[in-house]
Amino acid sequence: MSDADADATADAVGDGNPPVRRVSDWNAERLRGLAGEHETPLYVQDLDRVRESCERLLAAFPDADVRYAVKAHTGRAVLEAVRDAGLDAECASAGEVDRALAAGFGGSRLHYTAVNPPARDLDYVAGVAEAEPELTVTVGAVDTLDRLAERGYDGRVCVRVNPGVGAGHHEKVTTGGAAKFGIPYDRAAEATRDAAGRFDVVGLHAHAGSGIDPDQLDSHRELVARMGELARDLSEPSDRDGDDPRDADPIDLEYVDVGGGFGVPYEEDAPALDLPAVAEATREAVAPLPAGVDLAIEPGRYVVADAGVLLTRVNTVKPTPDETVVGVDAGMTDLLRPAMYDAYHPIRNLGGASGEPPVAEREATPVTVAGPICETGDTLGRNRALADPSRGDLLAVGVAGAYGYEMASQYNSRPRPAEVALDDGRAAVARRRETLGDLTTVEREADRDRTDRPEGDR
Ligand SMILES: *Cc1c(COP(=O)(O)O)cnc(C)c1O
Repeated sequence: MSDADADATADAVGDGNPPVRRVSDWNAERLRGLAGEHETPLYVQDLDRVRESCERLLAAFPDADVRYAVKAHTGRAVLEAVRDAGLDAECASAGEVDRALAAGFGGSRLHYTAVNPPARDLDYVAGVAEAEPELTVTVGAVDTLDRLAERGYDGRVCVRVNPGVGAGHHEKVTTGGAAKFGIPYDRAAEATRDAAGRFDVVGLHAHAGSGIDPDQLDSHRELVARMGELARDLSEPSDRDGDDPRDADPIDLEYVDVGGGFGVPYEEDAPALDLPAVAEATREAVAPLPAGVDLAIEPGRYVVADAGVLLTRVNTVKPTPDETVVGVDAGMTDLLRPAMYDAYHPIRNLGGASGEPPVAEREATPVTVAGPICETGDTLGRNRALADPSRGDLLAVGVAGAYGYEMASQYNSRPRPAEVALDDGRAAVARRRETLGDLTTVEREADRDRTDRPEGDR
């Protein structure tokens, strides 16, 4: 697609709410303007696209509770857009609960999923629950229930089950079968009935891992079917004949949460997830749910991934006998997924190098795009056919809105990049670029704390 075509498409983005936005759909001139104004590396997150994806999910799952797994992108502007769109928030830590609260999610829209929760997180969440008793804690170990009870918590609990099936685009994000996550399926019913004696048990939960894609629907269906079965089992009186009468009570569940993991196509030619088909398969597999029990889902990536791009400037072009290495100013500290998961992100040359022809007139050239970090793994893409890159060109790394900025680090003492949010077409800085001073803030504050204390306490 030529730049002129791409610009035309971008102007039309929003019409028809297409299931995926490709890196070629972004308006090149707009992105060049943003990079010129805010410098690089720069994340651009389009809130309008975030809203469209929320709407697509709500339309495909009209009767389900739809929760956004905020760890995919916790920027304030994104959280507010998702809140306004009507999704709840699924949080993985005290920090995420804190940020969701600040973005206006009340307790009834907050779900905290405690995976081996640090004491500090449990203290914090138990405190929040006093003010926000509608908050729900999703628990994946009996120990965690005990630790909540020790803190006086007796509120809403959802039991995380390890369904024994996993999906995922990479072994590091496949959680369904890993013992770390959830109570083993064959012990889940008993653990849930026990929990109901101490807490208000409102839900069952399973998350198989990230990457439900068109050819993994079978394992998704299997997970969902198992969860439906468990919900039916628990809605019947138990056949246990122990002396504790509460064991026999049916559990009054509100929902069965079958997790997130809805895939997005990273490869340019990969098909978009057929969301209506996934929804249909999910409803079929879970059915029949006991009366009053809703289906719930908690996608993260699907909401934000294709709403974001990472802009990076070419600073070095190095032809070698093996390959041409294009050095850019963003690396694994800005976008970790390629280094950590061997993830593929599409890359497009937006041009702009002075004295060079427009990208449409350049030859496609296979290159490796490498970052500035002293690590072999620090490449954003290998063997990519880009419109022959020159020093000064701007590259757009696509589908970078999920687990992009969130996983950014200061490794190699690199300040984290800036992020601009597009809202109704208008651009505003959502996170300023970190400075060299930001790198040492905590050291300087530690120094100050030490010298502030009286001599004897040091
Ligand atoms: C990470 C996570 C999600 C979201 O996963 P995506 O692949 O981003 O959709 C949902 N639920 C839980 C419990 C998670 O840990």
